[in-house]
Amino acid sequence: MTFAPITTMWRAPMALQLPSPPKVGMVSLGCPKNLVDSERILTKLRSDGYSMSPDYAGADVVLVNTCGFLDSAKEESLEAIGEAIAENGRVIVTGCMGKEAEAIRARFPGVLAITGAHQYEEVVGAVHEAAPMPPSAFLNLVPERDLKLTPRHYSYLKISEGCNHRCAFCIIPSLRGDLVSRRPDAILREAEKLVAAGTKELLVISQDTSAYGVDIRHQPREWHGREVRAHMTDLSRELGSLGAWVRLHYVYPYPHVDQVIPLMAEGLILPYLDIPFQHASRNVLRAMKRPANEAKVLERIKTWRDICPDIAVRSTFVVGFPGETEDDFRYLMDWLEEARLDRIGAFRFEPVEGAAANDLPDPVPEEVKEERYARLMELTARISAEKLEAKIGRTLDVIIDAADDEGGATGRSKADAPEIDGEVHLRDADGLKPGDIVAVEIEDADEHDLFGVPVGN
Ligand code: SF4
Repeated sequence: MTFAPITTMWRAPMALQLPSPPKVGMVSLGCPKNLVDSERILTKLRSDGYSMSPDYAGADVVLVNTCGFLDSAKEESLEAIGEAIAENGRVIVTGCMGKEAEAIRARFPGVLAITGAHQYEEVVGAVHEAAPMPPSAFLNLVPERDLKLTPRHYSYLKISEGCNHRCAFCIIPSLRGDLVSRRPDAILREAEKLVAAGTKELLVISQDTSAYGVDIRHQPREWHGREVRAHMTDLSRELGSLGAWVRLHYVYPYPHVDQVIPLMAEGLILPYLDIPFQHASRNVLRAMKRPANEAKVLERIKTWRDICPDIAVRSTFVVGFPGETEDDFRYLMDWLEEARLDRIGAFRFEPVEGAAANDLPDPVPEEVKEERYARLMELTARISAEKLEAKIGRTLDVIIDAADDEGGATGRSKADAPEIDGEVHLRDADGLKPGDIVAVEIEDADEHDLFGVPVGN
C-alpha cells in the first residue's frame, strides 16, 4: 500500500473586503486662518476614517468653510454654497458666515447644517450625521482621543469646558470662560470608541457636570436612531447602556441631580456622586457665592439613600475661608456628622491670585485654619472608618487596577474613584489583571481602604 505524498498547497490570502469610507469634499474660502481651520477639520475627519474627494461628484457630503470678513467675501461664500448645492446637493456650511445662519437658510433651505468658526466638533459631528461611517475596526483605527494618560481600563470623558458660576475662591471661569458643552453625540461617539478599545470605567468630568447642555439649550442630537438631549440625565442613561461603569464627577447640587439617582438604583450608572459642597454654613456659602440650602441638601441626601441605598457621596470642603467663624465651622462639623458622607477631601483656604475671595475681610489666621482642618480630618476619618467597617462581610464588585506576582491585587469598589478615594486590597487574587471586575468578599477595613478575597474567581 502506498500513501500519496503529502502535499501542501499555497493559497493566496483572501482579499479583505473593506467597506468604503464616506468621502468629504471641501471648499475653503478666505484667509489663512480659515485654511488652518479647514486643515484641522479635515485632519479630524481623516482620523475618523473619512476619505477626501477632489471633486463634487465623488463626495458624499461637501463642506464649505466660508469667510464673512467683507461684503464681497460674503457674496463669494454664498456663491460657493450655491455652487456646491447645485453640483452635489449635500452641503454643510461652516466658518465666519455661520453667524448668519438665517440668511443662508433663507437662500439655501437645503443646507444640511450650519456651524460657526472654530466649532470643529460641531462640523465633524454634522459630517458624521450626514455621512455616517460604516462600523469597521479597519476604518476607525485612530481613537477619538489622541493620547490616553490613564490605564487602558478607565478613561476620563470630558463633557464640557468652562463654568457659569463665579465661586469667590475660584479663577477657573476667568481662565477657561463660561460653560461650553460638547454635543451629546460627539461625547457618546468618543465613549463608544473608548469602551470598544477596552475601557471598563468612564469617569465623566467637567467643571460643572450638572450644568451640561445649559449653554446649548439642551439641544437634542440623533444618536443610534434616537434623540439624546444635551442633558446630564439623557447622557448618563446613554453612557450607562455602553456596558462600562459610569461615574459622575463634579456635580453641582442642582435640583435635577435627583433625576440621575433612579439610574443608579437601576444599575445603569455607578451609585456614586462627587458633589463639591465646599461648606455647610449659610454665611460661608454666601460669601463663597455658592448655593446656600444646606438643610435641603441633607434631606435630599436622605432621599437619595432611600432610592439607592448603596449610593456613595463624595465631597470636598474648604476650611478657613475668610469670615468663617468658630460657629460656622461647628455648624459644618454637625452637618457632616448628620450627612455621613462616604468620602471627603478637605482643603485649607489659600488665596489664589485673581480670586475675588482675596478681597474679603476677616481672614482666618493660619493656626486656626490648621486646627480646624485637623478637627475636620479626624471627624471624617472616623465616619469613613465606621462606614467601611459596615461593609465587612458583604460581597462587592471590584475593578482591578493592579496585580502582583504573589497573588495580591488592588482594585476599587463602585464607591471608589481612582486616585481620590480608597482601594480594595485583595489576597488570593491569582490570575486577575487590570480591568477585570470581580466579586470580592470584604474581610476587613481601615479608615480608607477595604481588604478582601475574590469569590467564585
Ligand atoms: S468652583 Fe467649580 S462651580 Fe465654582 S466657579 Fe469654579 S469651576 Fe465653577
